[in-house]
Amino acid sequence: MSGMASATVIAIDGPAGSGKSSVARAVARALGFQFLDTGAAYRALTWLILERGGDTDDEQTVVGSLGALDSLELTVDAAGQRVVIEGHDVTEAIRTERISGAVSGVARTIAAREAVNVRFRDIIAHAAPGIVAEGRDITTVVAPDADVRVLLTADEAVRIRRRFGDVGGDQHQVGASLAARDASDSRVVDFLNAADGVSVVDSTHLTFDETVDAIVRLATEESHD
Ligand code: C5P
Repeated sequence: MSGMASATVIAIDGPAGSGKSSVARAVARALGFQFLDTGAAYRALTWLILERGGDTDDEQTVVGSLGALDSLELTVDAAGQRVVIEGHDVTEAIRTERISGAVSGVARTIAAREAVNVRFRDIIAHAAPGIVAEGRDITTVVAPDADVRVLLTADEAVRIRRRFGDVGGDQHQVGASLAARDASDSRVVDFLNAADGVSVVDSTHLTFDETVDAIVRLATEESHD
């Protein structure tokens, strides 16, 4: 672990439906840390572009929306992350399948990734006493020096089943859209294979609490090094 003065950073990456967000939030709560869901920034930009009648597949449109990041508020309280962009509280609105279906266009725009990463690194740098940050590229790009780096995986069938509980509707369609998003996302950043020094936590056969405990244990071991 880094010196007393700096915050403990726990980075968690993984595919859609791995339960990353709920697990990361529970880890943060268990340790009394802050929580950063980086996907929320990509989703908020997507919401804004669609709200303006734009198309996230158009790179110029995505680049043209980046100024709105100045107005983006991401609260990092583990009790509940609120997301506000241009004064709109989009906390709930960014969770729809409509946003999930359009977010990859934002995620593949390099200028968008660089712009949100500046925000994420700033949030992490000011965290106290620690922060759990989750996404696709936290262990590799956003916070490669994190104290604890975890790749959270689960078999696709399990992820689809967990996701199905989340969104309802046609399970086949949900499975197809989740697989399509992973395929598109993994062309931009590799979150399917653990980078050097990253611990894999496979939650396929773990309960939610066991998954949280596995990561808390990694953080606790780290602090005794
Ligand atoms: O994690 P969540 O499903 O909310 O992320 C939404 C989308 O944002 C992902 O499908 C991915 O396209 C993008 N994303 C990303 N890098 C991150 C977090 C999210 O590209 N660190």
